[in-house]
Amino acid sequence: MLSETTAPPRREHDATLPIGYVDRDGVAHRKVVLRKMTGREEAILADRRFQRNGGKLVTELLHSCILRIGEDEQITRAAVSSLYSADRNYLLLRLRSITFGPELDATYTCPTCGAVTAVTEDLDSLPVVEADDGAEVRIELEDGYIDRDGSLHTTMVLRLPTGADEEAVASQMRDNASTGKNALLARCVQRLGDLAPHRLDAMGPKIMADLTMTDRRLIDRALNSEAPGVDLVRHLDCDACGRAFTASLDLSNFLSLA
Ligand SMILES: [Zn+2]
Repeated sequence: MLSETTAPPRREHDATLPIGYVDRDGVAHRKVVLRKMTGREEAILADRRFQRNGGKLVTELLHSCILRIGEDEQITRAAVSSLYSADRNYLLLRLRSITFGPELDATYTCPTCGAVTAVTEDLDSLPVVEADDGAEVRIELEDGYIDRDGSLHTTMVLRLPTGADEEAVASQMRDNASTGKNALLARCVQRLGDLAPHRLDAMGPKIMADLTMTDRRLIDRALNSEAPGVDLVRHLDCDACGRAFTASLDLSNFLSLA
């Protein structure tokens, strides 16, 4: 029989990262132990210093609530920043779920008739895609990038973005979501055709801005629907006109304290 002292602590919860954390010895870990959010995290959420940088806010919250990654209990902010965004978003959803429960009230606007459909989402039942071949995404661009010598480059390899990337581009993202995305992709691009690495480094954001919207959409799709992590694409039926539509999970009430 379990006594009070041997019962598992109810504030601690296991989570399995979709991609995983590689520690300083090069060992990969997927097991994370989280604790529920407390008044300390309520203060982080209300802290003005973090309200203009969502990446830093998430780093601070996770740093506060992660008890262990693998066996390691000394988790630094830098380690939390180095986690892939997909893993961070997964941990945030777990944090919300273990603290306030898995139900989330969400509303979606029908793109056809404009009616609003209200749904109660179950955060614990969202599909999670686990990485099986690393954290790189290969995309065949339709139009590609033409360099100054007239050569066409169409195969793009991106590593998935991390918290450090989010933190670095937050201010650009806030000013202009499109140029913010160029900065983010430029940080993540590993290869583009056989373009020399130094040119990719020097020209990254400009190259991203030069891509056609067709290609930019291909990149979005690859990062949003094929990459590992929680699948946030919701398939809905409009209450008013009955049409089926898809939308990204409404996270507007996600961490609201009410
Ligand atoms: Zn409708």
